[in-house]
This record gives sequence, C-alpha cells and structure tokens, in this order.
Amino acid sequence: MSSKQASFFESVQRNFDKAAVHTGLPQGLTDQIKACNAVYQMRFPVKIGSGYEVIEAYRVQHSHHRSPTKGGIRFSSHVNQDEVMALAALMTYKCAIVDVPFGGAKGGVKVSPRSYTPAQLERITRRYTVELIRKNFIGPSVDVPAPDYGTGEREMAWILDTYQTFKGGSEIDSAGCVTGKPVNQNGIRGRTEATGRGVFYGLREYCDQKPEMKKLGLSPGIEGKTMVIQGLGNVGSYAGLISQEEGGVKIIAVAEMEGTIMNKDGLDIPSLIAFRKSTGSILGFPDSTTLDNPKDWIKIECDILLPAALESQIRKDNAKSVKAKIIGEAANGPITSDAEDILLKKGIVIIPDMYLNAGGVTVSYFEWLKNLSHMRFGRMEKRFNQNKNMDLISTVEKLTGKTLSAREKAQIARGADEVDLVRSGLEETMVNSFYQIHDTLKKRKKITDYRTAAFVTALNKVANDYMTLGVFP
Ligand code: GLU
Repeated sequence: MSSKQASFFESVQRNFDKAAVHTGLPQGLTDQIKACNAVYQMRFPVKIGSGYEVIEAYRVQHSHHRSPTKGGIRFSSHVNQDEVMALAALMTYKCAIVDVPFGGAKGGVKVSPRSYTPAQLERITRRYTVELIRKNFIGPSVDVPAPDYGTGEREMAWILDTYQTFKGGSEIDSAGCVTGKPVNQNGIRGRTEATGRGVFYGLREYCDQKPEMKKLGLSPGIEGKTMVIQGLGNVGSYAGLISQEEGGVKIIAVAEMEGTIMNKDGLDIPSLIAFRKSTGSILGFPDSTTLDNPKDWIKIECDILLPAALESQIRKDNAKSVKAKIIGEAANGPITSDAEDILLKKGIVIIPDMYLNAGGVTVSYFEWLKNLSHMRFGRMEKRFNQNKNMDLISTVEKLTGKTLSAREKAQIARGADEVDLVRSGLEETMVNSFYQIHDTLKKRKKITDYRTAAFVTALNKVANDYMTLGVFP
C-alpha cells in the first residue's frame, strides 16, 4: 500500500471491502453494489455581477437497486467528483440500514455559499436544477435531492419551484421531487432537526448497553456523559441541543471554523447557538475558555466525541491524539479508513455515519410519503384518538370516583400531531436499526466493530434486492 492518503471514495471502498468478506456474497454481486451506477458531471454558466462564472457541479446516483435514488446536495468550494461519489455510496448503505426504500445518490456544487449573495445563489441553484431536469436526474420517482452541507430549506424551495415550473403542470406528485423543503412549501415538521435528533437516539441506544459501557469503564445510560462537538451547523447544533435537553449530556467543548471553546462544567447549547447567531462567532461565549490551538478539539478527554462537520477530519496524522472513548460520526466520513485502524487499536468505539446520521434521510422519506399522499400526517386520526382517550378518562373517572383537572385531561388525551408522529417514526427507526447492527456484531464473532457490522447489515439487504430483481439482459 502506498503511503499516500486514501481519497474519501477510496476510504469508503476500503471499508466496503473489509465488510464484504464477511457476507459470503459472490464477487460479481459485491462489485455491482460497490460501483457508482451513474455520474453526471456538469459545467454551466451563471451571471454573477457584470460577468459570467462557469460553475462545476455533480450528481451521482450510486445504486439503482431501488427507485428513486436519494441524497443531499452540497454547496462547498471543496466539492469534487471523488467526494460526491463517496457520499452517494454512503447514501445507499444508509438507506438500507434504516429500511428507507431508496437507492443512494448525492449532488455537489463547487461554490462557497458565503462568497455569493442570496440572489446569486438562487440563480446557481435554479440553473443546477434545470441541468438535472434536462438529463432526467431529478423527479419524485427518479432521484430526490435534499439539503446537505451548505444548503438548507431555502435552496430546496428554489429547487421545488424550478422543477414545478417545468413539470408541475403534468406531474401530480411533483412536490416529492425534493425533500427538506420549508413546511409551507410541502415540507414536513421535524425535518430540520432530524439528523441531529437521530444522532441522539443512536447514541442513547448504544450507551444503554450495559456490557458495552462496562468495557469502556463507563456507567450505562447517556445521562451525565461528556461530549465534544466539532461543527455547530445544522447537525451538530441539534445533536448538541437534544443531547443536552433530553439526554442530560454535558457538552464540554465546541469547535467551529473560528476556534474552539471549552468549559469543563458544560456549555449551554441553546445560549451558545443564540450567541453565535448574534455575534457571528462562538468565541467570547460567557464562562468559556478559548483553546490556543483550535485544532486541539481532537485532544480533549471526553466520553463522546462528535465530529459533525465534514469528511476526513480524523486522519492518520491526528488519530493518535484522540482521547475520547466513543466517536459518534454525526458527519459523513469524518474518519479516514487508516485513522480508523489506529482508533480501533486504541479501543475507541466508533458509531458509524451510515447509521448514526441516517435520521435526516429517514425523515426525508416521511416527507416524500407525505407529498405522495398529499396530506399531513395525523390529519385523519388525531381527533378520533383524542375523543377515544377522553371517553376512556371519563370511564376511569366514573369507576374510581376521582376526577382530573381539565388541563390534565387535555394533556393525556391529546392526539398526535405531525411532529409527534415524525419523532416517533424516527425513534422507532433508529432503535430498530441499532439492534440490527448490534445483533450482527454480537452474532458474528469475526466482526469486531460497528462500522463493519453496519456495512454487513446494509450489504445483505442491497444484495437481496439485486438477487431477487435479477439482471436485465
Ligand atoms: N444530506 C443528508 C444525508 O447525508 C440527507 C439526505 C436526504 O435526506 O436525502 O444523509
């Protein structure tokens, strides 16, 4: 093996190979699963200021074993074909793990969003969407984008509007061409927080495993665990917020582009998010100290390290410094495959991206289903359940001779709203998938880490689809 650092795609492929040997699947089949099925590389001009700029962009559909394909669109100056291919492949395995019936895809536009005005970003997004429409690389039954690093619901609304301008008149399900949309534009409540919330559910489930915690010298349960977060974007901020508020986790350090801050007694995440929103930086947050070297987030002793930014953050050159007991991959591909070897040797447990950050695509799936059904979740049954619960309370009151206050009754009887159902579906998915991976790890003695167990779980499902579909002659 050369000493050259593996590319992101090579790193994913190596992890794949490491797992494939445990599946017993024929080589031809694993080769087919591994390959990217379609790669669309494009260049298009966009009017910027008084001139034009040629924009480089991609959409990769990794696997067509299920339709549509699904995956976010990233806006970043680091976008390249290798990165988008790696991310598309991860989407295939991610969807399989959480039983979301899509193939994997990913898009990337090589722009730094901070360097453009909103009007310029809108032109770039709309033009990119037109390129996808032209090549039939977008549509509710074809390929469904979503937000990723550097994009959010604003961009998804532009994609929807552009798609509907061209196709809306003839396609009744056109709203399902993209997910992560604003709620008033056919989005779903609970999508924005979904990846971070899924990260919390996944970590909570893992920390509830008594034997696993014992091996690490930790007490069971997520409550009181210390956490370091790298990246306070959408995923990192919601993962931190929910871990603190619902799990009782103590977040002792946060790293961002501007620097790293720390407080051993815990940083209050809602206040920190508000502080960054008003000042544009995490530095100077009350009761925090700023690390001299911002890169030292990696060296902080903690129970859980949460890389929630970009890929390849923990590499061969810095993996030795990690002092965390658990790494939760909230980002996609934050650990390179050679760094992983070092971390596993040190006894650090890695909860892999393809499972841990799958909450986003899970709720995207719910949004897509909502779009196809043209109705909000809960609309049909909320009142019915509420009335039934009220009847039940009245019966109990009659039988016991005791009464509840009107407020208590309303609270107990309340029927589920859309956001309640989304959270419940997400929790069920993350818990269920955790045990699928955990069972693979426990039953297969030769598998010793969660990533390989997750890969094997995913590969068997994708392989099963290919085998039952057969190969079109
Ligand atoms: N970009 C997110 C991911 O990496 C979400 C993808 C989606 O919702 O389709 O999982």
